[in-house]
Amino acid sequence: MRDTLVLNASFEPLSTVTLNRAVVLVLQDKAVVEQAHPELRMRASAVELPVPRVIRLCRFVRVPFRRHAPWSRRGVLVRDGHRCAYCGRRASTVDHVVPRSQGGGDTWLNTVASCSTDNHRKADRTPEQAGMPLLFKPFVPSPGDAMLLALAADDRSALPDWLPQPVAA
Ligand SMILES: [Zn+2]
Repeated sequence: MRDTLVLNASFEPLSTVTLNRAVVLVLQDKAVVEQAHPELRMRASAVELPVPRVIRLCRFVRVPFRRHAPWSRRGVLVRDGHRCAYCGRRASTVDHVVPRSQGGGDTWLNTVASCSTDNHRKADRTPEQAGMPLLFKPFVPSPGDAMLLALAADDRSALPDWLPQPVAA
């Protein structure tokens, strides 16, 4: 199945997302279907839908950089689903894989979500030095992810379904 094109509320093309994500945005009333595949229907959450080819966001989303999401602590937590990269439990802090004291920067590839216990335990060491291997590799969010991160930042209470919901503190 092809990806779905996402337009901003201003009709400006933003990015493409998977069909699954497009449908979630429509079901959450965050986007409307602008153009659908003729003759194709799909079922999602017990409703029948046209298969969207183009959707448009209901609210204008400011995406500062078209190609890459700007790095942010909250973005790292959302990207990693609020899961600690060292133990898999709930994370509320951001850890620098290569510590800042060793030249590591605030970048997508050098930061992961971490629980405060592991962040404290790892301290100013690399995962190798600390003997704490990463459960997953950090990655740079795609343009589609960048848009969804912007959406999430816009409306904290209604993250898309595919993102693990934050647990109330
Ligand atoms: Zn942890």
